[in-house]
Amino acid sequence: MKKETKCIQAGYTPKNGEPRMIPIIQSTTFKYDTSEDMGKLFDLEASGYFYTRLQNPTNDYVAAKIAALEGGSAAILTSSGQAATFFSVFNLAGAGDHVIASTAIYGGSFNLFNVTMRKMGIDFTFVDPDCSDEELEAAFKPNTKAVFGETIANPALIVFDIERFAKAAHAHGVPLIIDNTFATPIHCRPIEWGADIVTHSTTKYMDGHDATVGGCIVDSGNFDWMAHADKFPGLCTPDDSYHGITYAEKFGKEGAYITKCTAQLMRDLGAIPSPMNCYMLNLGLESLAVRIQRHCENAQKVAEFLSGHEKISWVNYPGLEGNKYYERAKKYMPDGTCGVISFGVKGGRSAAEEFMKHLKLAIVATHVADAHTCVLHPASSTHRQMTDEELIAGGVAPDLVRFSVGIENVDDIIEDLAQALENV
Ligand SMILES: *Cc1c(COP(=O)(O)O)cnc(C)c1O
Repeated sequence: MKKETKCIQAGYTPKNGEPRMIPIIQSTTFKYDTSEDMGKLFDLEASGYFYTRLQNPTNDYVAAKIAALEGGSAAILTSSGQAATFFSVFNLAGAGDHVIASTAIYGGSFNLFNVTMRKMGIDFTFVDPDCSDEELEAAFKPNTKAVFGETIANPALIVFDIERFAKAAHAHGVPLIIDNTFATPIHCRPIEWGADIVTHSTTKYMDGHDATVGGCIVDSGNFDWMAHADKFPGLCTPDDSYHGITYAEKFGKEGAYITKCTAQLMRDLGAIPSPMNCYMLNLGLESLAVRIQRHCENAQKVAEFLSGHEKISWVNYPGLEGNKYYERAKKYMPDGTCGVISFGVKGGRSAAEEFMKHLKLAIVATHVADAHTCVLHPASSTHRQMTDEELIAGGVAPDLVRFSVGIENVDDIIEDLAQALENV
């Protein structure tokens, strides 16, 4: 199936007389005839559902659709993108371990790594995504367990060189994790470029309607854990909390990572989305391919309008010819990038704030990447916990305005921008 077809058809196939739409199994528990039947589930000897904190059929149908879209072997949905980012790393690294992350990542991911996960004893080295080979090489340590990057960084819009970082990670026997939220699998499938694990904030384009917060982790099924067993004892040695199961042996390359994530992290941390929210996410996924196309067409026109405007000091959009990442975006995302643009208003920080006050259609929101056009000044909101130095290292200028182009008629969006700029 092509990606547009997968958006509609993948993950759930009704049998004779069953509902066409994914059923909402809004039940915490599942009934079994004997304790023995249930015991087999607890021992992971049989597959099935017993408690929705770990797994639910509605969630699994939707996860299977995203796995199909990304070309992965298995997936799990989480209650937020933050939970997906946390689980994706914590499933591989614990106290005493080390992870390499790109500096150009979502502010929430940066804070999770640099503050909260450091408190848990995990060390991080942040590297410039455009660093030299020597710098990248020097970041690896004997206890490095993963490399983390973002396809199109929110909000810096830096395009990550997935293939290059995948090669470096694999040369050191560790997987590459990619946050593919902004590109979506409609425009980029990181697994095809060597990524091993893909994460999403499904809150953004996948849901696409400002309706549900959620996340997803997809495993490519390609990383050979057993070939690096010394680095990944959690996957390659018996789990005492599951009667001595060794995930990589029992579930193989295709299933080990997501099974461990479910059996240990969901069991103990419980960041599961509700079946109702997963149902709503699926509605968003059904129209993802057509919406993404419109987002990009609109964003391209808005970027071109802004580039020619006398009151705009700079425009950053990887789909714009002459952009620093234009060529790299063409390689990884030949059909388009995303609907998010950033720019500076002449007069800096205060001019940007003044301009935003006059917008009528574009609302000021901490959100991004959905049907409604919205606008944000990261330095005074989402990224306010970062110092100016950290902001600049992450590609977020203090005067940067993030503009998320929706799927309204683009003429209305441009008219709104024009009148607001007139008032500055
Ligand atoms: C929003 C976002 C996240 C965090 O997701 P939530 O659903 O808000 O928890 C992670 N990565 C990227 C790229 C994001 O845009």
